[in-house]
Amino acid sequence: MFDFHVHTNFSLDSSEEMENYIAPAIQKGLKGICFTDHLDIDYPSVDSVFIIDYINYAKEINRLKDKYKGKIEIFAGIEFGMQPHILEADTSFFSDKSFDYVLGSIHATGKKELYMGGFLEGLTEHQAIVNYFEEMLFCVKGFKNYNNLGHLDAIGRYVDRERMPYSSVKYFEYIEEILKAVIEAGKGIELNTSGRRYGLPDFHPDQSILKRYRELGGEIVTLGSDSHNISTLAYNFAEALDVLSSCGFEYYTIYRNGKPEFIKI
Ligand SMILES: [Zn+2]
Ligand SMILES: [Zn+2]
Repeated sequence: MFDFHVHTNFSLDSSEEMENYIAPAIQKGLKGICFTDHLDIDYPSVDSVFIIDYINYAKEINRLKDKYKGKIEIFAGIEFGMQPHILEADTSFFSDKSFDYVLGSIHATGKKELYMGGFLEGLTEHQAIVNYFEEMLFCVKGFKNYNNLGHLDAIGRYVDRERMPYSSVKYFEYIEEILKAVIEAGKGIELNTSGRRYGLPDFHPDQSILKRYRELGGEIVTLGSDSHNISTLAYNFAEALDVLSSCGFEYYTIYRNGKPEFIKI
């Protein structure tokens, strides 16, 4: 198996050394690991700067690729925070860099961050969720350099779950448009297993979304644990593969040099 969503201390919210992942990954029988540290340009929080030290990041990935050749495959990825107003960075940042895999994720809407709940300010939860999906639709259509869309329904983590438990059903018209746009652009989605860690009943996205994506013709799905330390590497991957099968997928996907490769489940 391949874990295609892993953070290291090149991300502000992780203190794990990149190399620390290698031994546990080999021990778990992983064939490959893709590092996807954060790049969130104009992230709306003064205390949090998610800008990557690209030169040293690429250097460390290349060092590990060489060192562990034949033992495990290391992939160079990035988790690119998409926001409508930074569309020009999609061209400027990627013009002189190459990645195996770019995971495009939404971490802010309305220029407010999701993590601390800033996106809810002055809005009903319903309106805030609609904004999230509308901006996601704009981004999956407008951005060109991402390969897969990250944790599509992660918004469910950030609403007040006591007051208004999130359910995809209410937002399916938006979600379908997003899935269609992703497919039409030749991109994919990720199955992010971190949902359970946050106390949600399902992975991201939930099974209703995965099934619909498949029905619409979607085939490209990467598997990612969204680990920020070694304890969650490949978290619940066996179950994630079962979920994919039950939703009609025969393959999951990895990316090498930006090109998808399909692996039989
Ligand atoms: Zn993310
Ligand atoms: Zn992540």
